[in-house]
Order: sequence, then structure tokens, then C-alpha cells
Amino acid sequence: MIPERKTRTVHVRDLAIGGSAPIAVQSMAATRTIDVDATMEQVRLLEEAGADLIRIATDTPADVEALAIIRSNTNARLSVDLQENYRLAETVAPLVDKIRYNPGHLHHHERSRSIADKVAYLVGIAGQNDCAIRIGVNAGSVAPDYAAKFPATPEGHASAIVASAIDHCELLDNLNFTNYVVSIKDSDPRVVIATNTQFAAARPDVPLHLGVTEAGMPPDGIIKTRIAFEQLLSQGIGDTLRVSLTVPFKDKGLEIHTGRQLIADIEAGRFRSVPKGFFEGLNIIACPSCSRVENEAFIDLAQDIKELTKNAADENITIAVMGCRVNGPGETDDADIGLWCGPKKVNLKRGTETLGAYGYDEILVRVREEFDRQVAGRSA
Ligand code: SF4
Repeated sequence: MIPERKTRTVHVRDLAIGGSAPIAVQSMAATRTIDVDATMEQVRLLEEAGADLIRIATDTPADVEALAIIRSNTNARLSVDLQENYRLAETVAPLVDKIRYNPGHLHHHERSRSIADKVAYLVGIAGQNDCAIRIGVNAGSVAPDYAAKFPATPEGHASAIVASAIDHCELLDNLNFTNYVVSIKDSDPRVVIATNTQFAAARPDVPLHLGVTEAGMPPDGIIKTRIAFEQLLSQGIGDTLRVSLTVPFKDKGLEIHTGRQLIADIEAGRFRSVPKGFFEGLNIIACPSCSRVENEAFIDLAQDIKELTKNAADENITIAVMGCRVNGPGETDDADIGLWCGPKKVNLKRGTETLGAYGYDEILVRVREEFDRQVAGRSA
């Protein structure tokens, strides 16, 4: 049930992605990179689960030092996630096999330098170090010039992220760099399906990395991911994938097992029907954690919120729980109730409005109040 894919082949050390290669399954360390022991344990767990590629985030020189130690202790294929601090590329590239940059984060530093120039810098570094690149577009962090160019509607938002991906492909093409893949992620599987289908029609040659970001906790997170992957892989769209789940660090291997199971089911034609009304009612979005997580307690918090709202499944309310200040503020904007977690305080939002910052021991009461307030507002 997975038709032949038409993309070119990208090489991540000895791993082929795209073309006729098997669909690669990857994941990401959920721990803080500077905690070398914990991150090594993530790498070990993911390798044991059969990960083809393991991503680690680096934001600071201390992260890079930790990455160097991790590199010297594993032969796993490593990918690095550059976010705002794209200039770390030159120190991390010698340590990894693939670099991911987010087009929506390149404007933060060196504002006078053009985006094209920054991309040329990244491509130069990747070429010198034999690294592949992922252009990793995320719906929660659309580059401002693309957000401004398209209408502020769901359709406009989708067009902005697809256009951003296509334009970055052109930047790389013009630099004669072809060893790259693209990802376009959102927490809503319907947006993932629509945007990846649009992109694949425009650039059928470019391998796609699939994922539903912040899918949340199992089983809902697995169901959301399955909905997207069934629709895309069955159309021959998708060359590598990641299942993002909010689970305790020790259970991270579940992302790999789930990815392989989803591929096997789709290959065998074992599709699950989506029950009517699946997208209605309570929706909890939660990030899967990564090195940027500022307090591990956010994983328990996500579970507590699920428990707190368990009798409110019919309420059309979206709650987003994010683990850090890098992506948390932007990726909670679309939720009715947003929480992004700092080291000591959790920032509570209503849509784009910040309501306050509360300790981990007081936030649940605040969420309950806000939730009840919104429910009452809707019934009124
Ligand atoms: S929200 Fe922050 S901690 Fe969570 S996965 Fe994204 S970058 Fe990592």
C-alpha cells in the first residue's frame, strides 16, 4: 500500500533516505544535551529500539562540548537541531551527519545579514563536513516575512509554510547542494497532510521527513500521527519519519517502535478508520521534550492536565503544553489554553494573551480556573 516514491536519494553517512530506500525511522533525545549521561542513555535507548538517526539539539557552546563527548562514545548516526543559534553550525557539523535548520528561526541573530547569506553559510559548512541538511519548517514558527505575505487565515498559514519550504529548496538548489530533505510539521494532522501534499506536488524530487509535532501522549499522540502517515505514505509521500510522543525519558524507544509499526501496518493495508468527530472535543497538544526542556516536571504536568480534564472530553478546547521558551511562546498561540514551562515557573496563556507565570505547585489550580471559565463562557 506504499507506492514507489519518486524522490532523489539523500545520504546521511551510510543511511540512504528517499528514492527506493526503506523509510527511515528517527527520533530525538529528550534530555538536556549538557546532561551527558542522560543524553547518552537516550542515544543508547533509541539505538536499541532501532533508530536510523538520532537528533540532538544544541543551543549553546556548552551543548556543543557535551555533543563532542557524546559523539566520542557512540557510533550512532547523529543529526543536530540548530534553532536560533545557527552560527553553532561550524562547531557541531564535524560531530554529526546531518544538520537541521528552521527557516523560521534564521532572522533572530545578525538581523542585517540576509537569509540567503545565512543559508549559504550553512550549506558551506554542511558541504565541508559531508553533512546532509534538513530544511525543517514548523507551523509554530513561520518566518515573519512569510507570515506577513499571506492572509492570517488557516489556509494562508498553510500556504506560508509551504512557500517557505519551497523557497529554501531553491536557495539550496542555487548553491548546487542537493543532499537535503524537507519537513513541514504541525500539531494538527490535517494541516500536516495538506501542506506535505502541496509541497510534494511542487517538489516531487525532494525527500520528505514526516511528523506531527507535539502530538502529545499515547494513545492520542499515536492516533494523530497515524492519521497523517496513513494518508501521506499511501500516496507515496514520505521518506523518513519521526513519531513525537510525550512519554517519560526511559520510554523514548516507543517513538521508534511506533514508527515501524505504523509503516508495517500501512504497507500491509491495515488502515484504521478515523471515528466521526475525532477532531471535535478536547484536544491536548504536548511537546515530546528535547534538550531545551527547562524542567522535566512538564511531562508530569501534561499527564496531570489530561487527568484534570478527563471528564470534559466533549469540550471544544485545545490545551497546549510546551517544554521551553524557544518554541513554547509561539506554539501555544493557537491554543485556547497554553502553558510553556520555564525552569521554575509555568507561563499560562489564553490564546496569545499571557495570564501570568505560576509555580509548578500552583499551576494546576490556575489551569482548572481558566478551563472552567472557558467552558462556562462557551455554554453561556
Ligand atoms: S517545545 Fe521546547 S522542549 Fe519541547 S520539543 Fe520543542 S524545543 Fe524541545
